[in-house]
Amino acid sequence: MSQFDYDLFVIGAGSGGVRAARIAAGYGAKVAIAEESRVGGTCVIRGCVPKKLLSYAAHFHEDFEDARAYGWSSGEARFDWPTLIANKDREIDRLNGIYKKLLAGSNVALLESRAVLLDPHTLDVGGRRVTARNILVAVGGWPEMPPVPGIELAITSNEAFHLEQMPRHVAIVGGGYIAVEFAGIFNGLGAETHLLYRGEQILRGFDDDIRHFAASEIVKKGINLQTKADVVKIEAVGAGRRVTLKSGATIECDAVMYATGRRPKTDGLGLEAAGVALGKGGAIAVDAFSKTNVDNIHAVGDCTDRVNLTPVAIKEGHAYADTVFGNRPWSVDHAVIATAVFSHPPIGTVGTTEAEARGEGRELDIYKADFKPLKHTLSGRDERTLMKLVVDRASQVVLGAHMVGQDAPEIIQALGIAVKMGATKQQFDATMAVHPTAAEEFVTMR
Ligand code: NDP
Repeated sequence: MSQFDYDLFVIGAGSGGVRAARIAAGYGAKVAIAEESRVGGTCVIRGCVPKKLLSYAAHFHEDFEDARAYGWSSGEARFDWPTLIANKDREIDRLNGIYKKLLAGSNVALLESRAVLLDPHTLDVGGRRVTARNILVAVGGWPEMPPVPGIELAITSNEAFHLEQMPRHVAIVGGGYIAVEFAGIFNGLGAETHLLYRGEQILRGFDDDIRHFAASEIVKKGINLQTKADVVKIEAVGAGRRVTLKSGATIECDAVMYATGRRPKTDGLGLEAAGVALGKGGAIAVDAFSKTNVDNIHAVGDCTDRVNLTPVAIKEGHAYADTVFGNRPWSVDHAVIATAVFSHPPIGTVGTTEAEARGEGRELDIYKADFKPLKHTLSGRDERTLMKLVVDRASQVVLGAHMVGQDAPEIIQALGIAVKMGATKQQFDATMAVHPTAAEEFVTMR
């Protein structure tokens, strides 16, 4: 008999926690997982998946318009927000059910309660004492909002997924992934959309050409983008909201959404009681094997604030379980991770930006293609695509590939393999083009 109730106790049934729990159980470990909200975590319940469904919905408006130039005609297009939200909720419920079944099928005990650490081996799980030899913290992150007067009148992406009515006028604060994605969603669905960003240009951290190009494309789509826009006050005006900027300008809207970053959800988790050290912003400090300073406690995913993306959390959870329970130690390589922003048009990026590469003191060859997609030669839509390669001049290795335009996320996923493998520009060029596609530009750039 083990001296512990479980070999592994996972706190948080999101992407990283569920993967770790299932793999560890597959190695024969006795595993329990606690979830205080809904199984599936941020990505499935209030992030990537519902966001992408809403993003699809927002694109039909243009699709209906573009279809006319291709000979199609149909009745007046009308959009119904409650139908979209109900259908989206049904799909999220289905996925939530699948996740639960996967856990049950893997022999992982699901405890639908909040778990709090009492010491390195003991937890309080909804009032019950539970012990475990190993503990994995995978509690994710949560939206963070600055203390602007009236901030309680604002919503975050969490609430945006459940609004009873679609706002006709919306102000979105922030300039990162979530702000840009939701601006595209609300704008595409017909709301007057203001995107308010405090800095010089949105999407800090992305390649500068991509940032400028994406900004000009989203403005063409009708989003009111204001940079250097600091919100100083939010007020209720009847059922609506008034946002006041530092410049004195005001914006009247039905909803104000903040997308100003996310913070590890580590408060009140008992990490101090267990002796687990935290880093900047409440992130759990871990080594390459996701181990904290306490030997039997590990952490994966957004609560460690390494690279806050679902596939990264999943890999970290998998590596943890293989290492600790499968006797197959490996660690996640956090370099050269492809990622996408599901804006309209979307962005795909992998590897180094031009500024980063120059900052490393490299001589570079830069290749760019800026063109009108074939589809829009007939539709007449004023939308362009940008592709860019950052190439190390000495070795000719492609350090980075960046794109704004239709299908960029799909294209960059496949291109990410070549960049991760260290392919050279000559190897890109030796690859025969698939014609006519947008992606072929990546192997034909001069
Ligand atoms: P990001 O960190 O991407 O962006 C936060 C934005 O808010 C930045 O533009 C930042 O400005 C701004 N900001 C921060 N603090 C303030 C403040 N006090 N006042 C005004 N503006 C402020 O966070 P998100 O919330 O957009 O997304 C969180 C994370 O979730 C992402 O980093 C990403 O890892 C993940 N994610 C991934 C997605 C995907 O893969 N498609 C989609 C959605 C989220 P500044 O640049 O000046 O600091």
